[in-house]
Amino acid sequence: MSRPRTRARTAAPEAGLTAGMAARALRRGLRHAGLIQVKAPPALPAQNGRRPHGPEPRQIMSQPASPSLYAAREPVFPRRVSGRFRRLKWAVMAVTLGIYHVLPWIRWDRGPDRPDQAVLVDLAGRRFFFFWIEIWPQDFHVVAGLLVMAGLGLFLFTAALGRVWCGYACPQTVWTDLFMWIERRIEGDRNARMKRDAGPHDAAWWRLKIAKHAAWLLIALATGGAWVFYFTDAPSTLVALLTFRAEPGVYFFVGLFTATTYVLGGIAREQVCTYMCPWPRFQAAMLDKDSLVVTYRDWRGEPRGKPDAAHGDCVDCKACVHVCPTGIDIRDGQQLECIGCGLCIDACDDVMAKLHRPKGLIAFETLGNLAASQAATRGMPPGEARTAAGMAARKAPRFLRPRTFVYAGVLSAVAVVMLAAFLLRETLSLTAIQERAPLYVTLSDGSVRNAYTLRIANKSHTAEEFRLAVESRLPLAVAVQGQEGPPRLVSRPDGLSDARVFLTLPPDPPGGRRDGEVTFRLLDASGRTVASAHAQFHGGRR
Ligand code: SF4
Ligand code: SF4
Repeated sequence: MSRPRTRARTAAPEAGLTAGMAARALRRGLRHAGLIQVKAPPALPAQNGRRPHGPEPRQIMSQPASPSLYAAREPVFPRRVSGRFRRLKWAVMAVTLGIYHVLPWIRWDRGPDRPDQAVLVDLAGRRFFFFWIEIWPQDFHVVAGLLVMAGLGLFLFTAALGRVWCGYACPQTVWTDLFMWIERRIEGDRNARMKRDAGPHDAAWWRLKIAKHAAWLLIALATGGAWVFYFTDAPSTLVALLTFRAEPGVYFFVGLFTATTYVLGGIAREQVCTYMCPWPRFQAAMLDKDSLVVTYRDWRGEPRGKPDAAHGDCVDCKACVHVCPTGIDIRDGQQLECIGCGLCIDACDDVMAKLHRPKGLIAFETLGNLAASQAATRGMPPGEARTAAGMAARKAPRFLRPRTFVYAGVLSAVAVVMLAAFLLRETLSLTAIQERAPLYVTLSDGSVRNAYTLRIANKSHTAEEFRLAVESRLPLAVAVQGQEGPPRLVSRPDGLSDARVFLTLPPDPPGGRRDGEVTFRLLDASGRTVASAHAQFHGGRR
């Protein structure tokens, strides 16, 4: 029983680390991480007014329970609200979902081999179609440019209007809004839902919960599941799905998109914005004192309390908190969780209207104006005079300022470059791929032959025939596999065409040069070069 312990004691020094050293290192690490506390013992009595020599003894205290890094989700029960920002959100939802559902059903002639769809992601053909725009894999820079433009557009809107994208047009917001609307229709408004969730899980509770989740799944199927129509012919795919004759892969992706929509829009909701989305983390860098953000005008609302002369305009009714889809209190100041939807503005305006006080206690406001109003009303008692003074200190929001100029300028420059690159892109291109196994073949008469695959990418919708010319300092003979006479190549419409081409060097070329560069040219009927490609000829050693 004692042998292993003896071995451990003797083996550790060989490794350069004793058990004591390891324990001390572990304790040091825990101390630095704050997981154990070190308490100094009572000071030793001074001797003749001097502290005794030697290091101060330290004592390891008991290890407290580690703080949990997990926090359970606080359920959010947003209340129904009406007002101009709510109406705007409904309108944006109708437009965005309308576009999303209509696009795959717009017909567009795509030739005999593809669905006649205006917007189509053709994964098999490695092509993306958007009305008259056709993106090939070779045009990936166009896609990259569009993504850069989307990012810059987001920067510009955030700098000018805060998180309007998050609050109105982000798919997560649109879907969450839709799911919350269904929840309200089935389970009732905030108070009814809170009461039911706090009560017993009886038959009525289960009936409503099952109805809600079934409705959510149906909406997820009809919205998220509709993604598949962008990848395949929408009408025939819908018929195949409904008659259970679609490919298993189609059902799989419909299920996948339905499940993600249901989980993100119905279950996760504001958690996606708060914890999963990176955008709130760096959006603060886009904001400045002139950006419009949803703001509580504390200079007007404080001190909160009863609607009397001793208090500000905020009656602490918490209507703004109860309607918030992320469950925050905007009166606590700017917060990462605030998506800038403006629903708290609607709720508070409603309260102010009932109290016969001016609307706008919560408003889209610049932080510069907020600071100016705070300074102008400092020390003033609540009342109409304070409200008037605070509002008079404001300035009209400046949308044209250096930051927005820079974003708009860079966005315009990228747009112009992308447009030029797209308009000037070649509709026909030629690629020469040299065969490498073997690199060259020596024929029986001593001549040397190289083989190439010439690939024509024809982005037009007509087949074309070209004369093939070869330029080189070597006296090369050219032949196309399966052809007699002058070499000609035919490109099929809207696709790739391959041809095998042989170049042959005679046994004793003038000057003895055996290797060299080769240029393949496609010539149209008038002899003009329409596409070219470079390659090497390898003649080997004599
Ligand atoms: S809705 Fe307006 S009055 Fe009510 S708590 Fe919010 S800020 Fe105050
Ligand atoms: S605080 Fe207001 S603007 Fe921000 S998310 Fe909540 S309701 Fe929307």
